[in-house]
Amino acid sequence: MKLFANVVYTASAHDLDQLPPDVGAEIAFVGRSNAGKSSAINTLANHTRLAYVSKTPGRTQLINFFALNDGKSLVDLPGYGYAKVPPTVKAHWEYTLAGYVSGRDSLRGLVLIMDARHPLKPGDIRLLDWYQPTGKPVHCLLTKADKLSRAEQNKTLKLVLDELARAKRNATAQLFSALKKTGVIEAEKRIAEMLG
Ligand code: GDP
Repeated sequence: MKLFANVVYTASAHDLDQLPPDVGAEIAFVGRSNAGKSSAINTLANHTRLAYVSKTPGRTQLINFFALNDGKSLVDLPGYGYAKVPPTVKAHWEYTLAGYVSGRDSLRGLVLIMDARHPLKPGDIRLLDWYQPTGKPVHCLLTKADKLSRAEQNKTLKLVLDELARAKRNATAQLFSALKKTGVIEAEKRIAEMLG
C-alpha cells in the first residue's frame, strides 16, 4: 500500500516529555514558517487539509504526529523564523526542537522544507547542526520551485547540494512544487527509503 495512503492525526506534544512512546519509525518535516511545509505535507499525503491540523490556533508551536501505514509516523515540527516570537517562546522552541531531532531514536530521517528562493537560512543551518551528530539522513525539499525559471531552479539545486557537501551533511536535495505537483514521486521515494 502507498506510504501516504492513510494519514491520520494521532497526537500533539508541547514538551519533550509529552512525546508519544519512542518506538517504531518516524519521519519529521521541518522548516521556516511560510516555507511551504504544510503545502508539501498535504501534497504528499494527497490530503488538502491534513497539515492544517498543525495550523489551527494553539497547535502551531506543537509537535504534531500523524500515523502512516505499517505503524510508521509522520511528524510535523513547528515552523521557525518568525521575527515576532517572544524570547521565551523562542527558547522553548529551540530546546524542544534540538532535543527532538538529536535525541529521538525512532526518527529515521528529516525532511527539511526550504523555499527554493531562500535556501539554507541561519535557522535551517542551526537545525542541521543540532541534527548532524546523529549521522541520520536529511532530505531537502526546495519548494515553490514554480516561482523560478528552469535555469534558476538548476542553479539553486546545485548551490544547495554543493553547500551540503561542503558542510559534510548526510543530505540529499531536490526541487519540489506543491502548486504544480512536481517532485512528488522523487520525494515519496526518498522518504520511503529513509523510513526503511
Ligand atoms: P508553512 O508555513 O511552511 O506550512 O507554509 P504553507 O504551506 O502554509 O505555505 C506558505 C505560502 O506559500 C502559502 O501562501 C502557500 O500557498 C504558498 N506555497 C506553498 N507551496 C507552494 C508552491 O509549491 N508554489 C507556490 N507558488 N506557492 C506555494
